[in-house]
Amino acid sequence: PVVTRIAPSPTGYMHIGTARTALFNWLYARGRGGKFLLRIEDTDRARSTPEATEAIFRGMKWLGLDWDGDAVSQFERADRHAEVANQMLAEGTAYKCFSTQEEIAAFREAAKAEGKSTLFRSPWRDADPSTHPDLPFVIRVKAPLDGVTVIRDQVQGDVKVKNDQLDDMILLRSDGTPTYMLAVVVDDHDMGVTHAIRGDDHLNNAARQMLVYDAMGWDVPVWAHIPLIHGPDGKKLSKRHGALGVEEYQAMGFPAAAMRNYLARLGWSHGDDEFFTDEQAIEWFDLDGIGKSAARFDMKKLEHLSGQHIAATDDDALVPEIQAYLAAAKEPTLSDADAQALRGAMFCLKDRAKTFPQLIEKAYFVLADRPLEMDEKSAKALDDVSRGILAQLTPQLQNASWNRDALEEVVTHVAEANDTKLGKVAQPLRAALAGRSVSPSVFDMMLVLGRDETLARLGDVTA
Ligand code: GLU
Repeated sequence: PVVTRIAPSPTGYMHIGTARTALFNWLYARGRGGKFLLRIEDTDRARSTPEATEAIFRGMKWLGLDWDGDAVSQFERADRHAEVANQMLAEGTAYKCFSTQEEIAAFREAAKAEGKSTLFRSPWRDADPSTHPDLPFVIRVKAPLDGVTVIRDQVQGDVKVKNDQLDDMILLRSDGTPTYMLAVVVDDHDMGVTHAIRGDDHLNNAARQMLVYDAMGWDVPVWAHIPLIHGPDGKKLSKRHGALGVEEYQAMGFPAAAMRNYLARLGWSHGDDEFFTDEQAIEWFDLDGIGKSAARFDMKKLEHLSGQHIAATDDDALVPEIQAYLAAAKEPTLSDADAQALRGAMFCLKDRAKTFPQLIEKAYFVLADRPLEMDEKSAKALDDVSRGILAQLTPQLQNASWNRDALEEVVTHVAEANDTKLGKVAQPLRAALAGRSVSPSVFDMMLVLGRDETLARLGDVTA
């Protein structure tokens, strides 16, 4: 059975690249009846924080990337990492190295002066243990000195690394703590990870990690190193390109489904499909569809997909999503009454809204209390002539049937009676009903507001 994982280091916000990697692993596992695991790589105590771990949990939850079992803390597994290092020591695939920092620096200095490789070669590699001093030591892997290590990568193909490029990396530090390189391998093995999809900044690590797999006689997982995300200018995505944290996208008001859809398309493709559901993504996702070149983050595309997802989501499902968005954006959430009003107007709000804040802006007409605050354009639209026209509308609306056709007829009739275009009536009517130039159509608003509220709002501006 397939087992994938996401293994973020909790050192800040949850990076958008981490979210994409998590999504790929989640899709791969979910499409194959496999398991998707979460491991917090908090071995580096100086850089890891509980807040960053919380941010990862929140980001994963918002994105709907549910993981199987409990999240694993890498730090808590330090004893097991040490156990493996000691086993390698006992089996002769690792050795104790007593070289000091100064000696290593001197080695490098001398190698450089002689024009030789500065990869550290420890004099303790083949030392007889009976000659070992009673001094602090690190445990190093015994890397092969010649030959090649081949990484069979599902995205990059076979990547060959000459073994003379690999040093005897440290597995266990002199204080007994494991290095990251050892911890990753031991954890992936113990957690039964069969497929590791991760950023291609880890490709070089893969060759070194294989040393541990080989030494322990463990199966190497299927690796897929995916190109990193770039900004629109083709350079590695960074702060100056805009938001990097997953939660920033939540606070911008993108639905999680749109984010998943967009992130799935970032470096992976399925024919020409751009807009798709989770079910489709789960069915379609495969390592073959991952591109070899870096994908560029494109805000316009995300917004476009977001609008499509909002339009395609059930009205009932949108309301709690909007409440969650408001909470994430640290804005007051809607009262039950407002939430209900929003739900009732959803049919005319969700089209053409690319984000939740855009949808909420359109919803001002149904959320605001009388008398409405007019924006500048609306105030301007309500000049004396327009008010006069609206005053004619009032008695007709008092008697009209309250359906779209009848309402259209009334407005058209008043326009004709004044020998003017429909817009000349609709524009001040919109101002009176919404106080905003961004709103649903006047007919939709009248239907949502009902006769009494509509007439009351007209009264507010014509009295
Ligand atoms: N902790 C690593 C990172 O956040 C991931 C390592 C891996 O996926 O093997 O980049």
